[in-house]
Amino acid sequence: MQQRGHKVRLSLTPAQLVAVDEQGYAARAMWNLLHSWWTMLPKGERTLAAADAAIRQGRKDLPWLAALPAQASQAVLKTYFQAWKNCWDGRADAPNFKARFRSRMAIDIPQGRDLQIVRLNRRWGRMWVPRIGHVLFRWTRDLPVGKRAGKDNRVTGARLVKDADGWHVVFRVQHDVPEPGEHTGPSVGIDRGITKPLALSDGTFREHRPWLTPGETKRLRRLEQASARKRHARKKNEPASKRLRRTYDQIGRLRAKAKRRAVDWQHKTTTSIAETFSRIGVEDLHIPSMVKSAKGTVESPGRNVRQKAGLNRAIAGEAWGRTVTLLEYKAAQRGGIVVRVPAPHTSRRCSACGFITPGSRETQARFVCKNPGCGFEENADTNASRNIDHAAGLAVSGRGAGADGQAEKRQPPTKPHAA
Ligand SMILES: [Zn+2]
Repeated sequence: MQQRGHKVRLSLTPAQLVAVDEQGYAARAMWNLLHSWWTMLPKGERTLAAADAAIRQGRKDLPWLAALPAQASQAVLKTYFQAWKNCWDGRADAPNFKARFRSRMAIDIPQGRDLQIVRLNRRWGRMWVPRIGHVLFRWTRDLPVGKRAGKDNRVTGARLVKDADGWHVVFRVQHDVPEPGEHTGPSVGIDRGITKPLALSDGTFREHRPWLTPGETKRLRRLEQASARKRHARKKNEPASKRLRRTYDQIGRLRAKAKRRAVDWQHKTTTSIAETFSRIGVEDLHIPSMVKSAKGTVESPGRNVRQKAGLNRAIAGEAWGRTVTLLEYKAAQRGGIVVRVPAPHTSRRCSACGFITPGSRETQARFVCKNPGCGFEENADTNASRNIDHAAGLAVSGRGAGADGQAEKRQPPTKPHAA
């Protein structure tokens, strides 16, 4: 059994757009009310039941909150609790208020049977949104609905999300997946390269063009400068002007475009890697602490990041964690495995003789082993990825060196290396 998300664009009429926006605002307000209420309560009184009662009361007292269907507001409560759990388990920061510009809107439709999904024609599908009615969406992949649905193959729920480029729906799809057979491909190690995005231990690289064209980059820079100027000119506590908000929206759309291209490339790349290789070694980089850093996310870059460097750095920061996650589930589907290895010296160790010799790294891009009698030469990223592959091999064979034939590749140096 497997859960997967499938995201597609919604096509809303102007009236529907107003109504969906209203639900989105209500969901965000609900979150913020819940958060202020929760943080004011003494610790002993913070229970799910009390929060549930508060939400029900809020829906009675504030009519505009009732724009959000009851099920969706229950989902807000559930998400809020999960956010605290994630925080207590050390996976995320404490939940916070959802601000106008730095958060995206979301509305949950938790029950799959409420969705009434129908395929209308080759390109369009139709779904039901509570309080709004039938809504069209782009049909880009077959969903298990109607006759194709079963107990183990069905859409179990959905979430509407508003990105910079409009409302989308993410269907939660449950699949019944047959156990994959054993993957017979070779093993590989992957390093986040300095000069190329991904370096593989077979000597190849996975590359991509910049996420934005030169024209788009120029436009983004101009918009960011304009927004900084306008922000500067604004008095304290003065609401953002219509023009400033439009600039924010334009910036958001460009960033979303870059991220979409990045994710698209990652999907293609990880699929082909998972298809080719059986054991995929990657460096374990403690992703949660990276997420917490000042870098922020692509949609809301950290405040301390220079605007110019912000986008590329934010994408690169998010990308590695996502690459590993994608690889893990794609490898599992094909009977492969991803091995995370702590790899402190991957870039300094020689992947041929296994020794760390001072000065071996000639330049950022080139590795030349200074061990007398070895002299191995390789692209520095490729060398690192070979070390990762080797470490992954040791990890799965329980450190029984040579059990999988990996260690034999290393020739012992003819002389002990000079200390
Ligand atoms: Zn060497």
